[in-house]
Amino acid sequence: MHHFNYVQDELFCEEVPVAHIAEAVGTPFYLYSHATLKRHFRAFDGAFAGLKHLTCFSMKSNSNGAILNLFAREGGGVDIVSGGELYRAQRAGIEPGRIVYSGVGKSEEDLAYALEAGILMFNVESSQEIDRLNEVARRAGKRAPISLRVNPDVDPKTHPYISTGLKENKFGIDIDDAPAEYARAASLAHLEVMGISCHIGSQLTQVLPFVDALRKVLGLMDALRSSGIRIRCLDIGGGLGITYDRETPPPPEEYAAALKQTLAGSDVTLILEPGRVIVGNAGILVTRVLYTKTTGQKHFFVVDAGMNDLMRPSLYQSYHAIQPVARRERPRLTADVVGPICESGDFLAKARELEAFEPGDLLAVMSAGAYGFSMSSNYNSRPRPCEVMVQGGIFHVIRRRETFEDLVRGESLPGEPA
Ligand SMILES: *Cc1c(COP(=O)(O)O)cnc(C)c1O
Repeated sequence: MHHFNYVQDELFCEEVPVAHIAEAVGTPFYLYSHATLKRHFRAFDGAFAGLKHLTCFSMKSNSNGAILNLFAREGGGVDIVSGGELYRAQRAGIEPGRIVYSGVGKSEEDLAYALEAGILMFNVESSQEIDRLNEVARRAGKRAPISLRVNPDVDPKTHPYISTGLKENKFGIDIDDAPAEYARAASLAHLEVMGISCHIGSQLTQVLPFVDALRKVLGLMDALRSSGIRIRCLDIGGGLGITYDRETPPPPEEYAAALKQTLAGSDVTLILEPGRVIVGNAGILVTRVLYTKTTGQKHFFVVDAGMNDLMRPSLYQSYHAIQPVARRERPRLTADVVGPICESGDFLAKARELEAFEPGDLLAVMSAGAYGFSMSSNYNSRPRPCEVMVQGGIFHVIRRRETFEDLVRGESLPGEPA
């Protein structure tokens, strides 16, 4: 459920016509619906009511401060994967006690920064990271709260680039090696074992892999308890999928019910790290058709947004629905929607049946709220687009469009002061 709907044949975000925003801010731009963000957060978090839990939004999916601030006011925390994300989270008003830190390659500086900030928990991903964090905490005269991110070897049945919980993936500690690593971590003076974490992948459309992973984690928890290591929280990661095209992922209630049943009265605090399921369908990318082009049998719509603005189609061959901002009765044709970047891999849609758009038409690239702006770059020296949030009948620019000066900020000639 989202708030991007047609009124007559014009696309609205909540009560604002998308075309009005395009007039005001130019194209391309990301557009988010406040009501949708709030509704999705509440639907997810509310599904776990009655269970001790903390919803830590996975901010790598969307790290805009206005969006984080909305979740902070809803009582949410965040899952971070870098020092930069911690900085953004703090700035957006997320309480340190609601921040968990995941990632396979945390630097010493970032570990020290997060320890100083007083985050809830480090999800440690390797044997060497255990020692590195213990050393960082020793120097700071502190104890670092940790969980070990275990790899349960469960197939999430998703795209290989976004599956993380298989033995062949770089993430986490093999669940069979976990008891020994826990024993070692528990013996170190500057670490405090709090939990177990796992995250098996993204865009999952079935609950079974989540249940399988949780069962394995619960098995580990029992084994640890019998060796005197008490686990207080289970972080089961994110990964619940959304509908981009015709996928039918389980709704949050079904996902939550399956997890509750598997937990069966265990007194741990559950930590959840949803990203895509909350923001994915709460945002779109609005772009304008620059040119239409036909080469041989093939039709192209050349638009002003490219792979630097929305990388997912190029990176994962992922599907985003393309909708006209103003629907019209006109012939349809099969075309590729491509960007201005000098790469053949620069496309937003391939072989899609669309209206016969004309230069100047506005298009909405749907389901672009997750891994959209956060993955954008300046490739081809393109300033990144602005981000806009609609709230009822008004819209706010929540990140201004970059300028050419932004592109060269920090550059200097050799010998010049940087
Ligand atoms: C990416 C990631 C998530 C969020 O995944 P979604 O599919 O967006 O829900 C959660 N936890 C970790 C550790 C991640 O790397």
